[in-house]
Amino acid sequence: NFKVSLPFIGSDELGELSTSIQKLADDLERLKTERNEFLASVAHELSTPLTYLIGYSKVAIRQGVSEQERQHYLVIIAEESDRMKELVKNLLDLAKMDENTFTVSKEYFEARPFFEDIFKLVEPSFKLKKLKLDLICDMDFKIHADPLRLEQIVLNLLDNALKYSLEQSTVKMKVSKKGKKSVISVVDVGIGIPLEEIDFIFEKLYRVEKSRSRTSGGSGIGLAIVKELVEAHDGSIDVISNLGEGSTFTIII
Ligand code: ADP
Repeated sequence: NFKVSLPFIGSDELGELSTSIQKLADDLERLKTERNEFLASVAHELSTPLTYLIGYSKVAIRQGVSEQERQHYLVIIAEESDRMKELVKNLLDLAKMDENTFTVSKEYFEARPFFEDIFKLVEPSFKLKKLKLDLICDMDFKIHADPLRLEQIVLNLLDNALKYSLEQSTVKMKVSKKGKKSVISVVDVGIGIPLEEIDFIFEKLYRVEKSRSRTSGGSGIGLAIVKELVEAHDGSIDVISNLGEGSTFTIII
């Protein structure tokens, strides 16, 4: 409970005040719409794997189903449950970031071994899809960041490169230092992002042509997390992309 006392209000000020109040009301309305749209997207994202889980578990327990068929259904059930768990984990992360209950603990660590470990972790998935992964790190230097969060950022970008690369192409992970800043780029030769969509890809649950991402297992949350994590480091993220040619995501921290 507090009182606002306005010492003197002339008609100009009143006009300004009413414009400000109207703007505030419009902003609130917009936020409400955004929140509802976001909730609808979350519900939709969760209901899709649930539909599979329900459907396939029902057929798996039906009598007369062969062991081979049952095995097939169980694999789908396991995959969809993983997908759902990942999505829920990401949503919780995002909620924490929005609440500002999320902190990064920065430390200094050597760049090269850090990226070599990431390389070793993900290279098998690239090989499996017949893609080549290159790590280009020409100098030794220390990065000032939260190592777990930076790994999450880079893994998300590599995961996208893996999903959206053209067959038998090469993905490059470039790491360098510019002044006091570390520059990390993930370059793919892939399907690219339409120019008119680039501004939206960092929004929560946004996907370019939902169908193309759906088949590659995307949920449209990875880049929103990446952006929040980069901002929590006071860093910046930039993307250059050409449709049908590929994309380069660059982080500076
Ligand atoms: P998703 O889980 O769907 O990949 P992201 O938030 O990581 O969600 O990305 C949002 C959308 O941006 C994706 O659905 C995809 O359409 C597009 N996108 C992201 N990275 C790339 C990339 N390297 N090449 C082409 N499109 C991309």
